[in-house]
Amino acid sequence: MAKKRETSSNVPSAELQQRIAATTPHNMPLYLAAVWQCDSTDQADQLLAGELSGYVYQRDKHPNADLFAEACMDFHQADHAAITSSGMAAISLAVLSQLQAGDHVLVSNQLYGRTTLLFTSELTRLGIQHTLIDPCDLTAVRDAAREQTKMVIVETIANPLLRVVDIGALAEIAHQVGAVLLVDNTFATPAICKPLALGADLVMESVSKFMNGHGDVMLGMLAGNKEHWSRVEMVNAAWGFASSPLECWLACRGVSTLTLRMRQASATALAVAELLNARDDIESVEYPGLPHHPDFELASKQFQSGFGHMVTFELAGGREAADQLIASQEIPFCPSLGDVGTTLSHPVSTSHRGLSAEQRLALGITDGTIRLSVGVEPTEDVLESLKKALPSVS
Ligand SMILES: *Cc1c(COP(=O)(O)O)cnc(C)c1O
Repeated sequence: MAKKRETSSNVPSAELQQRIAATTPHNMPLYLAAVWQCDSTDQADQLLAGELSGYVYQRDKHPNADLFAEACMDFHQADHAAITSSGMAAISLAVLSQLQAGDHVLVSNQLYGRTTLLFTSELTRLGIQHTLIDPCDLTAVRDAAREQTKMVIVETIANPLLRVVDIGALAEIAHQVGAVLLVDNTFATPAICKPLALGADLVMESVSKFMNGHGDVMLGMLAGNKEHWSRVEMVNAAWGFASSPLECWLACRGVSTLTLRMRQASATALAVAELLNARDDIESVEYPGLPHHPDFELASKQFQSGFGHMVTFELAGGREAADQLIASQEIPFCPSLGDVGTTLSHPVSTSHRGLSAEQRLALGITDGTIRLSVGVEPTEDVLESLKKALPSVS
């Protein structure tokens, strides 16, 4: 065996390299390499110019991100996908690759809190203006569009009242003014909805939620077709939104069961929504799969295999009832979503604490609002925990 230099003890000998290359591992290994060795100056030149396909530096691209991107491209039937360090990085990547100072964005008034903050305070600093719109009021969206409008951003299933947006109609409005429609598909995931097929230009997901689905990964993904991709890879590398190989490796394992997990979680979520709907201590239940939900018909047309894993409801007993439910510890209070097990959140004290009481009320959020993220446990177990957790009706 050729003697190796001590300082590069992690570089395999020629003999070991040959042994590794003799067969193909059925599961792609984790590539924890910051840099790849180049054979010659010409090869380095060509790799860095993008004339030769291959890896040089992890921040620019690495095999585990590329494998996860392939899975995302398959899910969304997209030409391209980029993987980022978080969902917020994926939104930033979309914005910085498509927009510039002077542009205007139509921003849904029902977005994840940090996304609202990004558009309403961070991007205004960079000269990107916005107007808040109700994405379910198509006339108002059309009226708010201007010549400078270059992007419309909405969530497939909006946070936290689970209103469903009409992606096809919004795409049409966006395209009339020459804007791109960016859809945050985190709550739905591609197991339920594929926004690109409905006319959206770009779709992103926080992989940290149900996509990976095991509560152990922080990652984002952005997918789209050729027309909107020219700047994406460069912006991802230059702004340093890069993902970690380990997170990508875990996410590949996570999404391999996405369809199965979503089928189970959606079926349980519907059963949960029906159970809550029949109780007197619940003021209201928001679930797009219930016929009384304002977007039931749209959701039935737009979604496949279920209505998602999120259920929002309002306890008649307000904050006190919410505190009681949380104190029962039957369902863990985790201010996030999309874990393998069922968790709950309380928007007033977590995701929507930055809003005034009036602003929250306008969105339909009260002290008694609870947002459930249904997991993949047997349906009976989730129903049982809920019944135990809810204060009994006297
Ligand atoms: C969590 C979340 C994000 C942000 O994703 P991170 O991975 O936490 O950065 C964006 N949109 C929605 C709807 C989310 O739930």
